Amino acid sequence: METKIAAISPESLAEAKRIIMDGGVVGMPTETVYGLGGNAFDDSAVKKIFEVKGRPNDNPLIAHVHKDYDLLKIVDYDPPYAKLLRDAFLPGPLTLVYPSTGKVSPYVSCGLDTLAVRIPSHAGAQAFLREVDIPIVAPSANLSKHVSPTSAQHVYDDFQGKIPLILDGGISEGGIESTVCDVTGEIPVILRPGLVTREMIADVVGACGEYTPDPNGKEKVKSPGVLYKHYSPRCETALCQSVEEAARLCEKQTGKRVAILAEDGVIAAWKIGGVKLLNLGKDEREMANRLYGLLREAEGICDLLIAVEPEKKDGVMVGVLNRLRKACTSVDIRH
Ligand code: AMP
Ligand code: MG
Repeated sequence: METKIAAISPESLAEAKRIIMDGGVVGMPTETVYGLGGNAFDDSAVKKIFEVKGRPNDNPLIAHVHKDYDLLKIVDYDPPYAKLLRDAFLPGPLTLVYPSTGKVSPYVSCGLDTLAVRIPSHAGAQAFLREVDIPIVAPSANLSKHVSPTSAQHVYDDFQGKIPLILDGGISEGGIESTVCDVTGEIPVILRPGLVTREMIADVVGACGEYTPDPNGKEKVKSPGVLYKHYSPRCETALCQSVEEAARLCEKQTGKRVAILAEDGVIAAWKIGGVKLLNLGKDEREMANRLYGLLREAEGICDLLIAVEPEKKDGVMVGVLNRLRKACTSVDIRH
């Protein structure tokens, strides 16, 4: 199968719609990362998404709709605070998890009694969702466990020959996946951190919890995706807590091509030669925006990627660190 990358136009949107209505999947841009989209009502399209990604079949998908889509077609329970969150943050990088009404394919939620819904703000995503006018399930458009994609080229690199069309909407500005927030209880609870932070949600509705899976593994997991190894570049990776630790590890390497991934100030002051330097940026938004592109770049230029944890740990950095920690731990640096 030939895989085409097409700029967003009336023709490419019409082609994308034809593919979706025929049960196929297409790559689509969003403001967070690129998605692999399929018809949420179509069992075989949903199954195809799991197959083509190699995604574990207990990791549920998010349904994406355009901003004027009538949510009541797929959701019925809607606490007042969920409306406040929609008014404050949507369209945008926030996914809300509602009780399921069983309207979309049962394969979407993988047996959970909830449905995750998102309204992306990216103009190309909106145009595509409006064109099809149905909920589109769209997990990140990367092979399972690989680094999430922030450009059409990244999607092509993972799915060349496996999907017919990628809609090109430029580089994803947000750079990390949406915040996933459960709205089935008394207060909102964050299941996966992202660009809409716990503080931002609490400011709007007064309170916001944060989910941590039961360490004994006895309770049913609310969001299976948080457990998986994720976002990993195809090279060895190590995560250091300080520049000194990174420098020690770097000096121990012989015969390996090494790259350092760190925030702007650390890169500017780095002294050891013979390594590639990957600059995450100066602030939390820049670091979110650059993270996945740099992880993908690293796999082409080094055998070992040494990442240094940025100083800032709160706000959007909760989401950035969550991804960085899952991506960069293949080498145990204690030995
Ligand atoms: P991805 O589409 O690759 O960004 O992954 C989707 C994320 O949303 C995963 O972490 C899933 O576990 C989570 N998710 C999707 N649907 C639900 C749901 N119904 N309840 C809880 N988490 C969900
Ligand atoms: Mg993903």
